[in-house]
Amino acid sequence: MKTLRSYLGDRWVEGSGARQTLVNPATEEPLAEASSDGLDLAAALEHARRKGGPTLRSLSFAERGMFLKEMANSDAKFDVDGAIFTLQTYAEIGTALGAAKFLVDGDGVQLGRSPRFHGQHISVPRHGVAVQINAFNFPAWGLAEKAASALLAGMPVLSKPATSSAMVAHRVMEILVEKKVLPEGTLSLLVGAPRDLPALLGAQDVLAFTGSGDTGMRIRALPNVIRDSVRVNVEADSLNAAVLGPDAEPGGDMYETFLKDVLRDMTQKAGQKCTAIRRVLVPEAHAATVRDDLAEGLKAVRVGNPALEETRMGPLASGSQLADVREGVARLVAEGKPAFGSSAPLAGKGFFMSPVLMEFAKGALAASVHAREVFGPVASLLPYSGKGADAAAIVARGNGGLVSSVYSEDAAFLEEVVSGIAPYHGRLFLGHPKIEMSPGPGTVLPQLVHGGPGRAGGGEELGGVRGLAFYMQRVALEGSRPVIQKLIGVQSS
Ligand code: NAP
Repeated sequence: MKTLRSYLGDRWVEGSGARQTLVNPATEEPLAEASSDGLDLAAALEHARRKGGPTLRSLSFAERGMFLKEMANSDAKFDVDGAIFTLQTYAEIGTALGAAKFLVDGDGVQLGRSPRFHGQHISVPRHGVAVQINAFNFPAWGLAEKAASALLAGMPVLSKPATSSAMVAHRVMEILVEKKVLPEGTLSLLVGAPRDLPALLGAQDVLAFTGSGDTGMRIRALPNVIRDSVRVNVEADSLNAAVLGPDAEPGGDMYETFLKDVLRDMTQKAGQKCTAIRRVLVPEAHAATVRDDLAEGLKAVRVGNPALEETRMGPLASGSQLADVREGVARLVAEGKPAFGSSAPLAGKGFFMSPVLMEFAKGALAASVHAREVFGPVASLLPYSGKGADAAAIVARGNGGLVSSVYSEDAAFLEEVVSGIAPYHGRLFLGHPKIEMSPGPGTVLPQLVHGGPGRAGGGEELGGVRGLAFYMQRVALEGSRPVIQKLIGVQSS
């Protein structure tokens, strides 16, 4: 069986001790083993800081962007679209930022009576290493989307994929190393348990984490993180909502767009997307029709091995994930009524389950719907009065999320819902039937910020050039105007 090695200090290294076995979730066949025991993580971080950091900082944004372009080209072998698109987008941002090595932040300001006394903010790359820990559900995209922002900003990266799905990130790394795409020390990969990795970080380092809220909380509470103000970005759980407006009558184009988005989000990647719709808010008058239409759509979804042509939904990623989802469904069932499917075990091997649509009465407490993310093909139908303020109040019970969507053309309703739920989200998707090839709310685009307040972790990634900010230090320069302008390369006027 293949042993997945880590790429640390610019060489492939193998952990010792007990290994974790990675299995094919469709067949439960063992695929590979991994261990990080015995690896010198402190030395790997120091190598990145000393070797990769200075190299990246000596390059301009355009030159760093060229590396991202080459990463995207190498990645093409995988056909991992999201990863490639994100790298390409950041390569273009690098080209646009040009020959500069740091960012000039806004216009300078006159600080006193004399125009000579001048202030200017700039953002410079931090001198540490960017540790990036990813969740199991987006192994290639997770690596690419985080690394793109950090490398373009000028920070070396140590990426740690979730162990259960690390094979994809490992293959990406193999190709990048084989093709010598990146300069030494700029990208490392740790496969296997994180061990004490977050505890090894200091004041110039940053940690970008994606995963469960519980792990995020543990990382944030580490003494070194608190003492040295280690910059931490957390992308965590989210109870994303889709709100159907009262004007979107069943059978109409807007209604059909809404149905399509809910069905796609419930079943794509077997619902294992942090941005998937979990709570479906519908005006009470249309609740039964929506339930029947969604059930009809779910009935047509063939669950099975993704290797088969007819399969429309594959398995969950691991046995523990399946157990976790089943437990989550049981909690929902204790409060509501299954309208479609169940989490009963399916015959045969593999971590498969049926999609599950839950139904709740209008005004039901539905505490678990608003408190626990069930990370699988599961959504809950919540009828509301049809008033924007009522929908917004229900959505807000999720305590902060990555994205929610609204389907309406009624300007007053939209304004009420958007203003009510915007403070609770990083992104709002306004569904419309006229948007051609709409990816729906579940797709994260590199041009827009990804992250959300509260339960979602309070983090922010991507968003074009905004994504660089996490890896850079903003500093205010205060002094003589000509001196500052010469320093930052602005022509004095
Ligand atoms: P997890 O158990 O928290 O694991 C996430 C990552 O953290 C894995 O790489 C894991 O490594 C590592 N890890 C575990 N314990 C750690 C510790 N004490 N210190 C440092 N790293 C540690 O979460 P998961 O079950 O893989 O992911 C599912 C969750 O991720 C869902 O709740 C989902 O909503 C969330 N998610 C959020 C986003 C987003 O962008 N907001 C995207 C995707 C997923 P090992 O695998 O080696 O244990």
